[in-house]
This record gives sequence, C-alpha cells and structure tokens, in this order.
Amino acid sequence: MKKLKVLVLFTILALLAISFKNFNLIEKKLYPYFVQQLVDIPKNEPNILRIVYTGVSTPLTPHIAQQSVVFDINDSIYVFDVGSRSVANFISQGTLDAANVKAVFITHTHSDHVGGLGELVLASWVRGRKNSLSVYGAGEELNNLVDGFNLAYQSDREHRVIHHGDGFLKSEFGLLVSKAFDVPEQEKVVFEDKNIKVSAFQVPHGPVKGAVGYRIVSGDRSVILSGDTALMEDYSFVNGVDVLIHEGIFTEESKKVSKASYALGNDRVGKVFEDIQDYHTNLFDTKNQPGLLSRLDSLDVGLLALIHIIPDKDNFIIKRALKKFKRLSPLKTVIVNDNMVMHLPLNSEKIIIR
Ligand SMILES: [Zn+2]
Repeated sequence: MKKLKVLVLFTILALLAISFKNFNLIEKKLYPYFVQQLVDIPKNEPNILRIVYTGVSTPLTPHIAQQSVVFDINDSIYVFDVGSRSVANFISQGTLDAANVKAVFITHTHSDHVGGLGELVLASWVRGRKNSLSVYGAGEELNNLVDGFNLAYQSDREHRVIHHGDGFLKSEFGLLVSKAFDVPEQEKVVFEDKNIKVSAFQVPHGPVKGAVGYRIVSGDRSVILSGDTALMEDYSFVNGVDVLIHEGIFTEESKKVSKASYALGNDRVGKVFEDIQDYHTNLFDTKNQPGLLSRLDSLDVGLLALIHIIPDKDNFIIKRALKKFKRLSPLKTVIVNDNMVMHLPLNSEKIIIR
C-alpha cells in the first residue's frame, strides 16, 4: 500500500515537472483558445429572423439589464432600445457581432431604454462597424438625446482616434446620427432595407412625448414591440403578427409595494410605485381599470412575449401572478428573460425559443 502511495506521488510530481517544462507549449495553445471564446462569433443560419433579448427590465429591477431587444437577420443587426447593461449582454451573448449593427430604434427617451446608447456606439465602432450609427425615434427629443451622447463621448472618440489612428477607427463612424421622424398620427414606415421593414405607431405613455411602438417585418414574419405604454383601446392592429412583445404592470401588487414602502418610511419608493401605475399596461383587469388580459380574447397572435414587468418579475409574489396570467391568457405566453433567443425562420410559422 505504501509502495502504491509513493508511486502515485512520484507520478504526480513527474507530471508536474513535465507540465512545468512544457508550460510555454501549453500556454501557446491556451491563448488562442481563450481569445477564440471572445472573438469567434459563429455565422448565423441565413433567413432566420432572430430576436435576442439583451435587456428586459425597468429601473425598478436593478439586478438585470434594462430593456433592449435585438433583431438579427442575415448578419445584419437592428437594436430596439438600449437600456443600461444591455450592451454587456449583447457582447457576452456570443452570437451577435457588434460590427454588424445597422441601426438603433428608440421607443422613447426614458433612461431605461436609452442608457446604454453610448456603450453601443463605442462597442460597435471599435469592433469594426462601417457606418455612422443611425438612431431612429419620434420627435425633437431624439435630437437632444443623440447630440448629448455625441458630446459626452467626444473626448473618448478623439483619444481613441489619436491612439489607434484614423485608418483603424474612422472618426465619423464613432458618431450617432439622429433620424428623428414626426410623431406618427397613424402607423407609418420609418425604415426599410433588404432585410426588414420597420413601422412606428404612437402609444400612450403619460407625459412622454413621442412614445412609439414598432412593427418589424422580415419576409413573411412580423413582430410588434409595444415600448412602454398604458393599455391601448384597440389591439386589432396586432392581428396576424408572429410575436407581440408587450410590457406590463401588476397594478394591485404595485399598490401594495407602494403602501409597504410608505409604511417602512421610504416615501420616495412609495411615491414612484404610486405614480407609475397610470402609464403602464395593467396586466389583469381591476375594479376600475381593464387589463391586457381582457384585450387578448379575440386576437390572432402567434406568441405573446411579456417584457418590462413591474414589480420585479423575479419576486416570488410576481412569479405567482405571472403564472396565473399565463394560465388565463388565451394566447401562448412567455415571460422573456435576459439573453433569451427566439428564432423565426422565414417561410414558416415556427417560433423556436432558446
Ligand atoms: Zn417609459
């Protein structure tokens, strides 16, 4: 037995000695492996509209990224909203090449939908985007947003161009370009290229000027993204879409959060939870307010994807409420999570969730 122990120990020492001697050799193999994990982005299958949820939360859910939904088809990428921390998910997700970002679409200028814009323009520029980055949104406010981010990142751009050279980082590609459109009275097309057509429609979101939702069409597949909105009167315009991505609030639970906050002496959280109830979409009907659930009955939609849930969707009470909503919903319903991916192959009705 003792002999065996000595033999094992000797073998381990011998292996360590060999490894140490050959560490340079091992290291040489390890570097490409590590770098490959960072830079090797596999080509996506053609003619599949992919939806990647890189941020699904609100400012009231600090542990996950704020709202951003990325559409990717034939290696062209279109980003709808860019909430804080969503760009980290975009990069680390490993299937999206930031160099391929073609345009950004903003539903409205609340911070949880735009806070990551500076990071996105920088990350995609450094990774090789070959155009200035167009930002679409409704109304004059978009110009302030774009000018503000360009100004905030001016020094960063200048330093990087001096450091790396204009041949490597073209100055103008580091800029955001505002493509503000008039707040639409009726749904209207605001962007079209060989991959997608995007239309905007106005949504009610309290005092926010130019809050819009978008319809994204690629071949025979289509998706509607509500943006932040109170419950709309008429949802018939969503009929026929494959995926309806809609925000939601549990009003009764938000009232209880507000009350509990006041009781605990935190009047600021109490007031925020009180104020936000009137410009988001109540999911369930309440005594005084109809909810999204009551609007779904007659709708023809492939999948309802709930996003931007208030209060925090990972809370035990809200998880139960979401389960109940899914059970009662006449539509197939999913609650989207950070980094969830949906595949919508063209010329098909399939929706594959990964
Ligand atoms: Zn908002």
